[in-house]
Order: sequence, then C-alpha cells, then structure tokens
Amino acid sequence: MIGNHDRRVIIVGGGIAGLAVARLLSENGLPFTLVERSDKLGGHTKDWACMAVDECKNCFCCLVFDYEDTVASCRNSEILVGYELSSVVSSDSGIQRVKVRQVDSGAEQEIQASALVLAIGFDTFDPVDKGFWGYGQIDGVLTLADLNHIIRSNDLGKLSPVPEGALDVAFFQCIGSRDKSIGANYCSQYCCGSAIRAALKLIHEVPGCNVSIFYIDLQLPGKTTRDLMEEAQEKGVRFLQGVPGEIRPLQEGGLQVISEIDGQNVAERFDRIVLSVGQRPSASAAAISKILGAPLNEFGFFETRTLFDAVRSPANGVYIAGSCSSPASIPDVAVSAGTVVSAIIADIEKAS
Ligand code: SF4
Ligand code: SF4
Repeated sequence: MIGNHDRRVIIVGGGIAGLAVARLLSENGLPFTLVERSDKLGGHTKDWACMAVDECKNCFCCLVFDYEDTVASCRNSEILVGYELSSVVSSDSGIQRVKVRQVDSGAEQEIQASALVLAIGFDTFDPVDKGFWGYGQIDGVLTLADLNHIIRSNDLGKLSPVPEGALDVAFFQCIGSRDKSIGANYCSQYCCGSAIRAALKLIHEVPGCNVSIFYIDLQLPGKTTRDLMEEAQEKGVRFLQGVPGEIRPLQEGGLQVISEIDGQNVAERFDRIVLSVGQRPSASAAAISKILGAPLNEFGFFETRTLFDAVRSPANGVYIAGSCSSPASIPDVAVSAGTVVSAIIADIEKAS
C-alpha cells in the first residue's frame, strides 16, 4: 500500500485531466477527493462532437465518458461537484490540509491531504474580446466550439445557404493564439487537428460542401494528424497560408473575405466562417495561484519547476496536470496525467 490512507490526494478540476489523474490514482490504490466547481464533470471535452465518419478519427473526446464511469465507481474516494478550493495549510513537506467550499451555500469542509493536483484546464478564447472577425455581430461567423455544438445536435442542415446550393466554409486558424497583441504568443496545440477533423465531417455530411482552411502554421504532430491532412487534401480541402483580417457581409448573402494569395489580394465569398479559437488560462487561475502560492507564467498558466520537471509546481506538494500549465491536446493531457501520478507516488515513497 502506498502512503497513509487517512490523507487524500486532492484533485482540483473535474475535466478530462482531473478524471484521468483520479483514475490512475485509484488504479495505484491512492484515495482522492476530486473537487469540481461547476455542476458537471467532463469540462470542455464533453461539449465536443464525435468526428467519426466512416471510421473513428481519433479525436479521443469519447475517452472522457470512460474516465467518468471508471472514476464514479472508484472505492475509498469522493467526488465533490459544485465545490471550490478555499484554503490550504502547508508545511515544508507539502500540503497538509485543504478546505473546500460549496459554491451555492458557502459551507466549508476540511480534508487531510497528501498532495494537491491542479487540473483546472483552460478557458476558450472569446473572439468578441478582439472584435475583429465580427463574431456575435455578423451572421455566419461561428467558432469551432459552436460548430461542434451544431454537429452534436445533428443540426448541420442549419449551416446550408438559403436558397440551397453549395455550402462554402472557411476555417480561420490561430484565432486567439500566436498573437502577441493579446498576450497569447503560443500555439494552442489542439485546433489544427480539430479543424481538419471538422472539415472532413462537413464534407462527409453536407452534400456540396467545400472547405478552405486559412492558417499561419500547421501543428500536426504524429502520423495520425498528418494522415488526416492528406485525407483532407485528397477530399478537396484547400489549405491556404495567411489569415484574412476582415469579414464583410455581402448584400446578396454570404461573407466576403480578402486574402493574399501569391502576393495578390483575392476576394472570396463564403457562407460560413469558423474561427478556430485557442486556449487561454482559466479565469480562476489567479485566485487559485494566490491560495496555493503556486506561481503563474507570463501567459497566466501555472508555472512548473523546469522543462524536465513539468508537472511539479514550485509550491511544495502541488502538481499540475493537463492544460492549466500550457495549452494541450487530449493525448498531451493523458500523458501529463500519467506523469503527475508517477511523480506523486515517487514523492510519497521518498517521504515514507
Ligand atoms: S475518438 Fe473521437 S472520432 Fe473516434 S469514436 Fe471517439 S469521439 Fe468519435
Ligand atoms: S494548433 Fe494550429 S490553429 Fe491552433 S494555435 Fe497551433 S498552429 Fe494555430
């Protein structure tokens, strides 16, 4: 048996990172308390659509349901939904006790802790913040998250133009990422793969759909995502380097975008523009950072000790999983959960 079972690992955040950590702790016989502020587990991942067409497209979103089922049946552990972290008591050897508060009633309870894992995830960039692409003002401009919602609701018909004809869709990549002007000079890691999967889904589901993807750079790690890009090219998806700066509604219907192709400005008409919005630090990161004394980096994500110790916070006894230390795809989150649990076990064994 590892460690003292009167003390629990506290996991703050019940999205895919927190659930992955909980599942691995339980497999290793370590009790945990998972604290989720909202009223549901699963985080953003649960809001994404399955992108399978003839076959699975390996987006890994459905992992969240397996994780949730496994975690719900873990013995000697608890899940507190609608609770938030309110205070901690630490010593030189790490976290000792944690208080959590019920969001609705304010009622607090204290838990004896052996470690604390931050898994609070990210917030999606809100394009209204930059006001440049007409999101929320121009009909037909939506985000990748909105498109996922439409696909999940089996409502793709509502994308088609009236009167019906071919559906021309453009994806704008790196919206709210790789952008110094908003303090987000980083890649959000997930949005190239997600946009390509969504393009393939649209082409498969909507007859006469044409897709163009405007990008700055393409983040396609591993063979799976490179194969997806090849498949998309074979199916006619256009990849165009450069992100148009302006979208204008046309009187006759549709949206005009001006892009630079081979040094020339070219105006094109689309029915829908999908903004591939990036990952931003969670709005609760600053408050949690204060409670724990866990520093944030220049972008507002949680800092880790070194490049080679990328799951321990400089604050003793605090570990960081998933995208709250830097933007991450689902496979990255799963890897970081494994590294966090290995680090906790190593530290508990070292201390005993
Ligand atoms: S991995 Fe993604 S595409 Fe494959 S079945 Fe799961 S949700 Fe669908
Ligand atoms: S994953 Fe692709 S779209 Fe997203 S920020 Fe990185 S390069 Fe841009």
